[in-house]
Amino acid sequence: MKSKQPLSLYIHIPFCIQKCLYCDFLSASASDDAKDAYIGALLEELAFWKERIKMQYYIRTIFIGGGTPTCLSPEQLFRLGDALQQFFTFNEEPPMEFTLEANPGTVTKPHIQIMKEIGVDRVSLGLQSAQNAELKRLGRIHTYEDFVESYGMLRESGFHNINIDLMADIPGQTIGSYQATLGQVLALGPEHISSYNLIVEEGTPFYQMQEEGKLLLPDEDTDREMYELTRRLLEEKGYKRYEISNYAKEGKQCLHNLTYWEMGEYLGIGLGASSYFDGCRFSNVRDMGCYLSRHGDKREDDIHKLSKKEEMEEFAFLGLRKTEGISLPEYKKRFGVDLKEIYCGRLEPLMKKHLLAESGNHDRIYLTNLGIDVSNVVLAEFLLDD
Ligand code: SF4
Repeated sequence: MKSKQPLSLYIHIPFCIQKCLYCDFLSASASDDAKDAYIGALLEELAFWKERIKMQYYIRTIFIGGGTPTCLSPEQLFRLGDALQQFFTFNEEPPMEFTLEANPGTVTKPHIQIMKEIGVDRVSLGLQSAQNAELKRLGRIHTYEDFVESYGMLRESGFHNINIDLMADIPGQTIGSYQATLGQVLALGPEHISSYNLIVEEGTPFYQMQEEGKLLLPDEDTDREMYELTRRLLEEKGYKRYEISNYAKEGKQCLHNLTYWEMGEYLGIGLGASSYFDGCRFSNVRDMGCYLSRHGDKREDDIHKLSKKEEMEEFAFLGLRKTEGISLPEYKKRFGVDLKEIYCGRLEPLMKKHLLAESGNHDRIYLTNLGIDVSNVVLAEFLLDD
């Protein structure tokens, strides 16, 4: 019998207490009844997929994200977790990683107890900044002190794998305030740190403010300096950068996110969630009424089967986000061709310009720091002709 394939599972919780001013994620505030109805629909969707995957797959990682999953009551979280445990009865082992995203100010002791009961072993805390004035400017609901309290409770309860999300380019942020945030976070010693740049998305209050000239963002030089500072300070403290914006202590890389960057298969469960499964990319419906009323299968109609060319391009784009880059043997195994042959004549010029490099034993290619700075230019070379 063919051995089972690994599959990752993302579960979207589209609720937040209030919208942050920069956020364009699919999330909104909701009543307790609305959340109950949503959990019911999630369970239905899980049951739909269980029948389709149980013979061929095992669940390798789970990520409950949002939104704010800790916006659910502990009872609602238990309902979801309990259903997940029943769902995975076909797994011979528990998943290798089970992450839950949490926001400071919404984590309570009953939440933590339920998280332990349902098997969560990694928590991702959205801090963004340790400076209260910056948090306020972002429209976050919590203070730095709320975060320290949540972090402390998680540690006391035995969570040994915690990520902290940070943000650079916050309006009014300076090198000094960003450095202070990094220092405060490093003093806590989380296992994993992500630092993403603020992107002003259309349709958000920040976008409107920018249009009106009321959003004072750090300039490009400051942005570069923050990026370099992150790398230097984190590496000094033993965090290895393994993706453009992600750093981890030894052995603590996020396996779930690696699934995305290595183009592994994953199912997105919940409102608007995206999947890559059986060679196809597809997304769930984004309208809540529609999501609740559909039975079992919540997918939009446009299921896109990737051509081999698209798959090869995506594999290169996603793989080059990792600092270790693309494995050449893996590429050959997956596509039956040598990457160097496919991109013959295109790699050498990039290497000569020190934008791309090859590992010592010639089994990987990766972006250099210079290459990361102009990654759009480098990645364009990985588009294939029709
Ligand atoms: S907590 Fe996260 S998902 Fe919710 S509004 Fe803020 S940024 Fe968006």
